[in-house]
Amino acid sequence: MKRERSRKLYSKACAVIPGGVSSPVRAFKGVGGDPLFLQRAEGAFVYDADNNRYIDYVGSWGPLILGHAPGPVLEAIERTARNGTSFGAATLKEVELAEKVVECVPSIDQIRFVNSGTEATMSALRLARGFTGRDLLIKFSGCYHGHADAFLSDAGSGVATLGIPGSAGVPAGAARDTITLPYNNLGAVEETLQEHGDKVAAIILEPVACNMGMVLPHKGFLEGLRTLCDKWGALLIFDEVITGFRLGLGGAQGHFGITPDLSTFGKIIGGGLPVGAYGGRADIMAKIAPTGPVYQAGTLSGNPLAMAAGLATLEQLSAPGFYEDLEARSASFSRQLNDVLAARDTPAYLNRIGSIFYLWFKPHQSEGPRDYGDIKSADSERFKRYFASLLEQGIWTAPSAFEVGFISAAHTQSLLDSTATAMGKALDVSLAGGPSKA
Ligand code: PMP
Repeated sequence: MKRERSRKLYSKACAVIPGGVSSPVRAFKGVGGDPLFLQRAEGAFVYDADNNRYIDYVGSWGPLILGHAPGPVLEAIERTARNGTSFGAATLKEVELAEKVVECVPSIDQIRFVNSGTEATMSALRLARGFTGRDLLIKFSGCYHGHADAFLSDAGSGVATLGIPGSAGVPAGAARDTITLPYNNLGAVEETLQEHGDKVAAIILEPVACNMGMVLPHKGFLEGLRTLCDKWGALLIFDEVITGFRLGLGGAQGHFGITPDLSTFGKIIGGGLPVGAYGGRADIMAKIAPTGPVYQAGTLSGNPLAMAAGLATLEQLSAPGFYEDLEARSASFSRQLNDVLAARDTPAYLNRIGSIFYLWFKPHQSEGPRDYGDIKSADSERFKRYFASLLEQGIWTAPSAFEVGFISAAHTQSLLDSTATAMGKALDVSLAGGPSKA
């Protein structure tokens, strides 16, 4: 496949944008080679600057559960734009989207819209601190909650891809109040609370960890956190930026039947436009300005185009059978992929929940990964060869061994079938190179 124009654009971009990208994982540092520049997309496909077509499993990193450029969402954006793109004032659309979220997610009494997942988690943490009058935060290794100072220690996503322990520029004071523990380890949480329980404002986690590859919560982990938060008076924050509206209208909390105090959203809630949100119990949300003393604001927050795109998306997701259909196709894809793995005695493990999947390049392990320590033992050289082969076959997956894949409503069974076959070939290429030396 020729990628001359992508290559040229990349060198132009590097002159004026650090690393040539607006977000680090896009730079292909985890896989080598030049990043793709994309120019258009439709349904399950993206087209690069050289007009090569790929079946897309990145889905803009999660928002595009309906696929690219879905008609009803485009129409809603166009219709809304004709009446003005931003007012900096309250609008009907944000009330409608808020009502829709409150209807879908039982733990949400009230919701505040922001512009990204990072803003959502950052604001939820401030609110938790303001509500409890405490400073400490417990988070888990390998979870990613955006790029605010408090969340970057041992974070997943791009921080994991680039192999950095945290970030330069985070003041010691900002990181000091974050305690980072291993995912799925309730004992470690209990011990920490025994020591610091009366100072902990919140425990935040991805209820399904999707930024260290994928790690599912073990039975009892989420329930245990709920119980411990109640015992110690800390708030439980579910970061549902990926899982919200992905695992069903009720997100991961609906899937597992756990009620957090606060939840954060992003990605799908904005239907492909920049939106984040945080919400939860009415008594907690009442602490936000202007009703309460916790300050949080935004010039473009509740932007009408973004609200229209989010609302149109959630309306599509509410159609009877939407999630059942997506689950059926995702399950069949995962069965095929497991057959592909079994036929090759492949050192890789497939993890899947709903339409999110992850292939873990770990030698002959029958159990799924438990935490970030497990995930980090993935064979990154094998992953690189697998990624490169898929790209050559016209399959676009995240350029990192620590990111998940997303299936959308636009991925037909025949596209998924051909992807499973292509993945088999990519595994053959990957295996032929042998294991990493490291
Ligand atoms: N939380 C989670 C779980 C995420 O996956 C992400 C982004 N991938 C964020 C927060 C941050 O969202 P954003 O990139 O929109 O700031």
